[in-house]
Amino acid sequence: MDLRLDGKTAIVTGGASGIGAAIVDELAASGAKVIVADLKVEDAERKADEVSKAGGTAYGVAADVSDAEAVEKMVAFAKKKTGALHLLVNNAGVSGEAAPTAENSPEGWQKLMSVNLNGVFYGLRYAIPEMVAAGGGSVVNIASVLGAVGIENSPAYVTAKHGVVGMTKAAALEYAKQGVRVNAVGPGFIHTPLLDENLDDEAQAGLAALHAPGRMGTPEEVAALVVFLLSDRASFVTGSYHLVDGGYTAR
Ligand code: NAP
Repeated sequence: MDLRLDGKTAIVTGGASGIGAAIVDELAASGAKVIVADLKVEDAERKADEVSKAGGTAYGVAADVSDAEAVEKMVAFAKKKTGALHLLVNNAGVSGEAAPTAENSPEGWQKLMSVNLNGVFYGLRYAIPEMVAAGGGSVVNIASVLGAVGIENSPAYVTAKHGVVGMTKAAALEYAKQGVRVNAVGPGFIHTPLLDENLDDEAQAGLAALHAPGRMGTPEEVAALVVFLLSDRASFVTGSYHLVDGGYTAR
């Protein structure tokens, strides 16, 4: 049993940026063929080209994970390009409105759920049958430390991430006997474009201080755990939720 993923095909949603891009790099370095799925086809193809130039194998495809049909097509694309699908990282996510519960708009709430919760369901819905057909597979759903604890002013995000943890457990129980493992990863605050777009320097420094080392994590530190969980090294790990949070929840 090793960490190598030669001969395996992996899809990473939201794979063109931040945590997803680091997972794409780690998967390619481990020998997997990687489908980089993202909202904009040019972003997905740019990331796939970068991997190819570095000696890996990757293909870019546009897929809005809030659209079931687009996710079905994304899975079909992986099969068409490589012949099978073994690994999926449901990573695409958005941060949503920054306001207390009673000030969130119903539209904003639905929009966040459509990406962060429905998107994970659609990924499982269309990828698992292909993994069963391929003789087994592994899924990692990117939740958040906010799948374990709450925070003020992001109620839809906190709710969706807790939901992702529950969805992970349900699917893991259903498909373990068919060789499909499903796990969730809960990153603490990670320095990515998602944070840069939503928080100024002062807010970021405040968040960094909540982690025991006094800094945020890096996308690469999340990718290392994700690729371990995807690999056969984690063959008895399923239905569980793994934090990579610099001690955020240890207090
Ligand atoms: P990011 O840098 O913003 O990257 C997210 C990527 O997903 C972007 O390329 C984005 O495209 C794409 N995307 C957005 N909506 C999509 C959709 N509907 N369908 C497909 N792709 C979509 O974010 P990140 O910080 O790496 O976050 C990745 C995941 O980690 C998310 O699930 C997030 O909730 C989770 N997470 C992040 C942190 C953190 O501190 N950064 C902590 C815990 C968990 P555009 O750029 O075009 O919008």
